[in-house]
Amino acid sequence: MIVVLKPNTPSQTENDFIDHLKSLGFNVHISHGVDHTILGLIGDTSRIQPEIFTVYDFVDNVMRVQAPYKMASRSFHPDNTSIQIGEGLPNVLPCTIGDGNIVVIAGPCSIESEEQLISIAQEVKKSGARLLRGGAFKPRTSPYSFQGLGSKGIELLLSAKKATGLPVVTELMSITQLDLFNDIDVIQIGARNMQNFDLLKELGGCKNTILLKRGLANTVKELLMSAEYIMAAGNSNVILCERGIRTFDSYTRNTLDLSAVPFLKRESHLPVVVDPSHACGMSWMVPTLAASSLVAGADGIMIEVHNKPECALCDGEQSLTPAQFDAVMSRLKKYAAVEDKTL
Ligand code: PEP
Ligand code: MN
Repeated sequence: MIVVLKPNTPSQTENDFIDHLKSLGFNVHISHGVDHTILGLIGDTSRIQPEIFTVYDFVDNVMRVQAPYKMASRSFHPDNTSIQIGEGLPNVLPCTIGDGNIVVIAGPCSIESEEQLISIAQEVKKSGARLLRGGAFKPRTSPYSFQGLGSKGIELLLSAKKATGLPVVTELMSITQLDLFNDIDVIQIGARNMQNFDLLKELGGCKNTILLKRGLANTVKELLMSAEYIMAAGNSNVILCERGIRTFDSYTRNTLDLSAVPFLKRESHLPVVVDPSHACGMSWMVPTLAASSLVAGADGIMIEVHNKPECALCDGEQSLTPAQFDAVMSRLKKYAAVEDKTL
């Protein structure tokens, strides 16, 4: 249920009312908009009628929220959430995602060596990427495939962060790895862990921003419910990521569900990123899908880049070379200008 307060409600009145709502057993999510303050009630609201709040002259409107996600829902928080990444850290170039401009995240699928990572990091930075990605713990279909460098990979990623100033994104697969992630700016929760609810609850206690990828066979509403798990546990810095889903057709690695972007932007206030690399699985298609994602309204695009895709230990076939990435960035800049955004 949401309670909308009239403009210019005195803050003392608002605070007293919030205390009253809490005494009724609700947690209260407060969203201060330009004119209105919206109070989101979290808890079992089925036992009360909305009318009990309309008796107050400072209450403008009371509505039940039908969606099962509350904190992730736009009705609880009408303004876009923008998340600052790397803010206030020495020698880090901070960036903001969700403020209406486009943030590009780029880097290799897997961290393979210091030379590989630093060289890719410098190249993607030169082309305008704002965050560096790279997997250290890799969720591979086969146990015989390269599983990532693990803690050594995290170390290399942090040295690339130091060398370039780019904030970093990497995947956490198990809560037992969390201690290694203190200086990781954005923790990625991969498609295969989207509904690992114990993991999601633990992330509620982290200060890191979370990039939550949609599961291979999950609905967008389930993605929002997973975001809700993290937010309900205390971490509101969640970025949603569409990365393609399983369908009956296999001409692409997955099927990029581009309509998820406007749907998520309408339904939720959280930033939305698209990962065209994992969606299509073919490097030649990535530039077109990246441009389409921008036009569809994504706040960010995540692209896999490798200095020698033919030798990559993971996902080489979908990785762009630094030169191809640079060309994509030039193209994206033009599309961004048409949409009145910057890259
Ligand atoms: C990745 O980003 O490297 C990855 C494994 O992605 P996903 O979880 O979407 O498959
Ligand atoms: Mn990959």
